[in-house]
This record gives sequence, C-alpha cells and structure tokens, in this order.
Amino acid sequence: MPSANKDQKCFFCKIAEKEAPARIVYEDDFAIAFLDISPSAPGHVLVIPKFHAKNLVDLPEKETGALFLAVRGVAKMIIGGMAAPGLTIGINHGEVSGQVVGHLHVHVIPRFEGDGGASIQSLVRNVSEETLDEVKGKILKIKS
Ligand code: 5GP
Ligand code: ZN
Repeated sequence: MPSANKDQKCFFCKIAEKEAPARIVYEDDFAIAFLDISPSAPGHVLVIPKFHAKNLVDLPEKETGALFLAVRGVAKMIIGGMAAPGLTIGINHGEVSGQVVGHLHVHVIPRFEGDGGASIQSLVRNVSEETLDEVKGKILKIKS
C-alpha cells in the first residue's frame, strides 16, 4: 500500500480517494488514472500517485516506480482504445513549466497524424551561452 500522508489533501487526493468525481480508467494500490476534464486530445489521461506529492522529486522512490508502471499500462490502453499511433507523455514540473495543479500528474496525450501538435522539444528554445561540458559539470556537482 502507498505511504500515508493524510495531513495533505488536495482535489486530486480527493479523486484518488473517490471523494470527488472523475472518469477513472485505471487504478492500482499506488496510482490512479482518469480523463483530463479539459482534454488536449480525445483520450487525454492524467496518471497520478495516490501519495500526495507536488512533483517527482518530492515523491518517495517506491511510489515513483509504481507510478511509471501505471503510466506504461495506461499508454497501452490509450494506444489500443483510441487507435492512437503515438503519444506525448509529460509532466509540467513546477509553475514555471505550466504546472497548475499541485499534485504530481503525468499527462498521457494521444497523438494523431495532422493533429496540429508538435514535439516536447519545441515547447522551449532557451539557447545556453555555456558549453555542453560546462553544463555537464554543473549537473554532476549535485548528487541525486
Ligand atoms: P497542469 O497542472 O499540468 O498544467 O495541468 C492540470 C490538468 O488538470 C489540466 O490539463 C486540467 O484540465 C486538469 N484538471 C484540472 N482540474 C481537474 C479536475 O477537477 N478533474 C479532471 N479530471 N482534470 C482536471
Ligand atoms: Zn494531493
């Protein structure tokens, strides 16, 4: 079972506990998935951990592995159920990236030929003045 953190409860926690309505398409002990209320494409699903964490780095390791297994299962369901030839899978991690809901959620968005969308890399074009090796050095200073 997921770790308890009952002190924090948001709207997505209430969905996970069936105290708020949602169109649930998947559930296991650690994660639950439901249709986004304002879908970017037909079959747009949000996969969330039952444990309340704002983002991936706040989520305990055990819940993190389980969350991505759930994402994998949901991906298969959407590809099959929606006859989607592709998916965009992503997390808005922090307000600066567009996170509005403060409970970690993984967007799984079906992609179709001619849907007018683009790749994740096209979301931002912030060209660095540092070399790739300088950037690598900065990141390696921090242990995960
Ligand atoms: P983000 O925080 O990554 O920007 O996105 C939050 C997502 O949650 C949005 O796509 C929004 O449509 C969806 N959302 C917000 N409130 C609800 C809700 O009450 N129910 C459902 N099913 N989706 C919601
Ligand atoms: Zn929550």
